[in-house]
Amino acid sequence: MKIHEYQAKALLAARGIAVPQGRVATSVDEAVAAVRPLVEASGVPVVVVKSQIHAGGRGKGRFQEHPDLGGVNVVLDGRGGDLAAAEQKVRALAEKMLGSTLVTVQTGPEGKPVQRLYVEQGVDIARELYVSVVLDRTTGRNVVIASTEGGTEIEEVAEHTPEKILRETVDPAIGLAPFQARRLGFALGLSGEALAKGVAFLTALERAAVDLDTDLLEVNPLVVTGAGDVLALDAKMSIDANALYRHDDVVALRDLAEEDPAEVEASKYGLSFIKLDGTIGCLVNGAGLAMSTMDIIQHEGGSPANFLDVGGSATTENVTAAFKIITRDPNVKGIFVNIFGGIMRCDTIANGVVQAVKDVGLQVPLVVRLEGTNVELGRRIVEEAGIPGLQSANDMRDGARKIVEATR
Ligand code: ADP
Ligand code: MG
Repeated sequence: MKIHEYQAKALLAARGIAVPQGRVATSVDEAVAAVRPLVEASGVPVVVVKSQIHAGGRGKGRFQEHPDLGGVNVVLDGRGGDLAAAEQKVRALAEKMLGSTLVTVQTGPEGKPVQRLYVEQGVDIARELYVSVVLDRTTGRNVVIASTEGGTEIEEVAEHTPEKILRETVDPAIGLAPFQARRLGFALGLSGEALAKGVAFLTALERAAVDLDTDLLEVNPLVVTGAGDVLALDAKMSIDANALYRHDDVVALRDLAEEDPAEVEASKYGLSFIKLDGTIGCLVNGAGLAMSTMDIIQHEGGSPANFLDVGGSATTENVTAAFKIITRDPNVKGIFVNIFGGIMRCDTIANGVVQAVKDVGLQVPLVVRLEGTNVELGRRIVEEAGIPGLQSANDMRDGARKIVEATR
């Protein structure tokens, strides 16, 4: 699960990690109101207005509606004490940024609408570094990654100058060892007080990653200020979905507006929905059957638009919801219901599909293949419903062929 930069920074600050002061704003007035207290509290007459979206590359991104405007904007007018001018600038920026669509290398060409801003104190940047804590699934351990090339996409550093990426694998029993943190600190070119602060920062960051169950915790840039302080200027955090049960505070930070609406709707019913880019909607039970259904559709010359896994314990209501989610996708030109009833009963699926067709109608061809528990009853329910455009299939291959044929 992803969260916003300002939320990640609050979680880090609570764990002793230095971050700049800032205030979140969802309206123009809130953004303007943030300027004065921020300047007074931080003593810095510069503020930065940052778009909050679940994607990076904002600084270099551009707004669709304002092609000359980036996603991160520095306002200098507070210098010389002209707060009113700074507030005026922030107002003008917030009016343009809020509600507009920001396109970055990470959002894809369609971009993401900006609904929240983070107004942050300006930081006097002497150096921009890169650090992150990522889970290495091969070793099952966290790795602390660091580079002197902060501010740039780490993928680019990895491609062009891989020798500039440093790694320390963390022993979970002891955490990031002092010698490892120092080794990274030296390699980042830190010395004196900045080295001590950098070592403390890296150690606390790795602890925060474990404490919060992140699968990615990236600080890019980590900055050294003119005064020698070490601060997280940006924070990107993704929390392992399987660990959310022990982080109620993190779950509360979920911003549904940032997530795919169909996936949000599906998760309400305990369904797993994955959107793909083909034309055949797939309603299946179990991840294994989902994989083989996609394979066989491809094998028969079609391509899946999504797969929706209703799992093993769905009710008729859940199946109805699942079917509606699939039919709502305009890319879906046909639907393949492929169920192997084990714990899941075929009649439950059949009732769900029939109910959904009654509720919302059916504009596209539908192929149903049922097998397993209560299969006779399930087939009878589907047949007796007399759904136009429906075909039954004897097995998976037969079903895949029929739906590919019908959508051609
Ligand atoms: P993104 O990675 O999405 O582009 P960042 O938060 O890293 O967004 O910001 C991009 C750049 O903007 C940073 O590399 C830094 O140079 C500048 N910047 C961000 N926040 C501040 C700040 N509070 N003060 C000064 N400069 C900032
Ligand atoms: Mg960044």
